Amino acid sequence: MTRLLQFTSLAKAMPEKRPPTERRRDFGEIYGEFDPAQAQQQASRCSQCGIPYCQVHCPLGNNIPDWLMLTAEGRLQEAYEAAAATNSMPEICGRICPQDRLCEGNCVIEKGFASVSIGAIEKYITETAFAQGWVAPPQPSRERPQSVGIIGAGPAGLAAAEQLRRRGYQVHVYDRYDRVGGLLVYGIPNFKLEKQVVARRHALLEQGGIRFHLNTAVGADVSLAELRRRHDALLIATGVYQAREMTCPGVGLGNVVPALAYLTAANRKELGDAVPDFDSGALDARGKDVVVVGGGDTAMDCVRTAIRQGARAVRCLYRRDRKNMPGSQREVQHAEEEGVEFVWLAAPEALLGEGVVRQVRAHRMHLGIADAGGRQVPQPLPGSHFELPADLVIAALGFDPEDLPRLFGAPELKLGRWGTLEIDQRSMMTALDGVFAAGDIVRGASLVVWGIRDGRDAAEQMHRYLQAKAAAASVAAAE
Ligand code: FAD
Ligand code: SF4
Ligand code: SF4
Repeated sequence: MTRLLQFTSLAKAMPEKRPPTERRRDFGEIYGEFDPAQAQQQASRCSQCGIPYCQVHCPLGNNIPDWLMLTAEGRLQEAYEAAAATNSMPEICGRICPQDRLCEGNCVIEKGFASVSIGAIEKYITETAFAQGWVAPPQPSRERPQSVGIIGAGPAGLAAAEQLRRRGYQVHVYDRYDRVGGLLVYGIPNFKLEKQVVARRHALLEQGGIRFHLNTAVGADVSLAELRRRHDALLIATGVYQAREMTCPGVGLGNVVPALAYLTAANRKELGDAVPDFDSGALDARGKDVVVVGGGDTAMDCVRTAIRQGARAVRCLYRRDRKNMPGSQREVQHAEEEGVEFVWLAAPEALLGEGVVRQVRAHRMHLGIADAGGRQVPQPLPGSHFELPADLVIAALGFDPEDLPRLFGAPELKLGRWGTLEIDQRSMMTALDGVFAAGDIVRGASLVVWGIRDGRDAAEQMHRYLQAKAAAASVAAAE
C-alpha cells in the first residue's frame, strides 16, 4: 500500500507543460498527462485532512481525499467511481476549473508546501476511466413515462439531463446552436479544452437515450408555451450572452469586436466550419496589433487566441492591477509566457481611426476608496493618457442575460436585479409552475463547475416535483 502524507519530501508536480514557443503555434491543450507512477506519487502527497478544505471549497463537494487515497493505492476504477459520484464531467473540471481559487487554493498543505495537484489528478483518473471503458452512459434502472424538456445544452443543462435520465425520465434537450456544449464548445478555446472531450460526453449522453434537438432556438423556432405542453417539466439553462459594451468614443469603428464573436469564430475555424467573418480577416488577428480590454477569463482566452493566430503584438488593458483582476492568476502566467503584454491600471479613453480603428488612447488609473462591495474603485489619473497601436480591439467586459420574459413571450418570469432569472431558492422553480432554471442564467456569468452543481441540484428538485405530479395524477385517476 502506498503511504500518504508524502508532501514533506515530494514536491508538487504538474503534467508536462508544452514550451511557449510550441504552444504559440497551435491550439492543442498545453498540458500533457501524468503517467501512472506520477499520478500515484502526486496523489500520495495528500495529508488526508480531517476537515478537507479542498472539498469544502469545491462547488461540487467532491470527495477529494478519498479519490486521492484510492489513486495513491492504484485503485483507479474505485477512484473514478468516487470522482464521478458527485461530478457529471470530471474530465472537464479537471482541465478548466480555476483550481487556484477553488480546491487547490484551499488545500492546507498549500501553506508552505504547494497544494496537491487535484485538478490534474481528477483529469488523469477520468481519462484512464474512458480509456479502460469504465465510463458508462446514464442507465436508468426503470423507465418513467414523464418527459422533461431542457433548454440549453451547456454544462448546467447537460448535468441536469444526465441526472434526470439516470432516474428514468424521457429527456429532451433543445439548443439553438448546432453542437452540444454551450460555452464549452463556442467560448472556451481548444488550448484549455479540446472539443473532442465535449463531443465524447455528448455521445455518451445520446447513447443513454437523451434526445438532442439542435438548431432549435426557443422563442423563435418553438415557443416556451409549446414546450410546456410537450413536457411535464422544463429547465431553462440558457446562459448569459449579452456582451457588455465599451462606452468610450470610437467604439463604432471597424475592427472593434465583442469577445464572444471573436472566440466563437476561432473555435468554429478550429472545428473546420466555414466562417466568412474569419476568412474576410475581420475576426482574424494574424499580423495585427491587438488590444484586448478586460481582466477576466474571457480576456485571457482572447489574448492567447490572438497569439496563436499570429498577431504582431497582443496587449491586455485592465483598469485594476494584477492582484485585483477577476481572471485566474494561472491563466495570466500562461499568457505572459506566450508573449502577451499586460498593461495594468489602464483603461481606454477613446478609440481612434478613420472607418477602422488604428489606435487606442488610454489613461492610467489608480485604485481609490472601496465601494460597498469592498472593491477599490479605479479612477483615471488626470493627464496620464498614452496611445497604443491597434488594428483589432476586442472588448471582454463581461456578459449580461438576455431579456428572457420578452424572448420567451412569458412576462410571468421574474427577473432579479441584474436581469438574471429569479427562482425559489429551495425548489429552484421560476414563477411559472413546472419551469425550473439553473446555471449562468440564474447566477450571472460564473464557472462551469457551478453550472454542473446547479444542474444537478435542479434535477433533484425536478424529480421531486415530477413525483408529486405523478402521485397527484394517480390519486385523481382513482377517484
Ligand atoms: P452555457 O454554457 O452558456 O450554455 C447555454 C446554452 O443555452 C448554449 O448552448 C446556448 O446556445 C443555449 N441557448 C441560449 N439561449 C437559447 C434559446 N433561446 N434556445 C435554445 N438554446 C439556447 N468557466 C470555467 O469554469 N473555466 C473556464 O476556464 C472558463 N472559461 C470561460 C471562457 C469564456 C470565453 C467564457 C465566455 C466563459 C468561460 N467560463 C469558464 C464560464 C463558463 O463557460 C460558464 O459559466 C458555463 O458555461 C455556464 O454554463 P450554462 O450551462 O449555464 O450556460
Ligand atoms: Fe477542484 Fe473543480 Fe475538481 Fe472541484 S470540480 S475538485 S474545484 S477541479
Ligand atoms: Fe489532501 Fe489538501 Fe485536501 Fe487536505 S486539503 S485532504 S491535503 S488535498
